[in-house]
Amino acid sequence: MDRKRFQRLKTAVARDLTAEQCLDLEAHLREVVASRASETSLVERTREVTEAGHCPHCGHDDVVRHGRDKAGRQRFRCRRSAEAGCGRTFNALTGTALARMRKPEKWLEFAERMGAFRSVDEVASSDLGISRLTAWRWRHRLLKAQADAQAAQLGGVVEADETFFRTSYKGHRGWVRGTPPENRPPRYRGGPALSPGISGERVPVLTAVDRGGAVIEQVLRSRAGIEPALRGRIKPGSVICSDGLKAYVNVAVAAGSEHRRIQPPRTDWLKKAIGGKPRRPGRLGLGHVNAHHERVKTFVNRGARGVSTRYLPLYLGWLRAIRSPGFEAAKLLRDGLSTPT
Ligand SMILES: [Zn+2]
Repeated sequence: MDRKRFQRLKTAVARDLTAEQCLDLEAHLREVVASRASETSLVERTREVTEAGHCPHCGHDDVVRHGRDKAGRQRFRCRRSAEAGCGRTFNALTGTALARMRKPEKWLEFAERMGAFRSVDEVASSDLGISRLTAWRWRHRLLKAQADAQAAQLGGVVEADETFFRTSYKGHRGWVRGTPPENRPPRYRGGPALSPGISGERVPVLTAVDRGGAVIEQVLRSRAGIEPALRGRIKPGSVICSDGLKAYVNVAVAAGSEHRRIQPPRTDWLKKAIGGKPRRPGRLGLGHVNAHHERVKTFVNRGARGVSTRYLPLYLGWLRAIRSPGFEAAKLLRDGLSTPT
């Protein structure tokens, strides 16, 4: 529709519709916008870029419109000047996680399939019309934003603990090229690590959850990473529950919070039978963080059939995103568009 007709339509809507029809139209428009979420989020993003006028290449502010690309999308150019400006062109996607991704009309449907945890094989063999490789690439693009989407701060009762995943090089090209990433034959998924405890064979994942459902999750290299990961991210006056590792005590002290050491439940049935009172409901424990670990493990090891350690943060972000309250597929797109890379 050209601009004049659109203006006339808007005037007619304002002048001729009854209040009831206006409400009807509003609901209808909302449905249309939802069904065309990828296009509308692209337009929103283009508006943002136009208003902000930042060059994603050099960060300079002197940006002008620069025609349209083959798909009809607005392009921009950073104006070169004596002291600043790189003179390069860009579009609304440049510098976001979705840069150079094609077929925007299919993004929303793809995000919906991600919301249902569809595998790349399922997506490729469905009627969406993208290849297996594209499905895999798009998944990783959308998840990039989710890997960083974490609670800024936790407060109240905070449960913290680590869980471990086996170091994995799933999909590493070295296995088929004869240059394996580790000096060992490839192994099948599953099974325990060869040596107990922390070693190069297992990678720790730190999790802290509060009673509001906010989560901080980080793949660590060793337990020495616990303190830096939680520094400044616990509200003062909170109560941190952990298994009593020194790092958590230090975090609590630094955050001006209390620390409670939670004793593991007695495993000896006899001691359990004769020892002590039944557990009071509402007592502090590690139940929330343990339940979270259980879900994460099931998702990574069974749902995703194992994940390369390299991509573990992405997949943890996937589960967090979909479990977050009020999740909708369009959010994966919006986050991808608003996350700079
Ligand atoms: Zn520039």
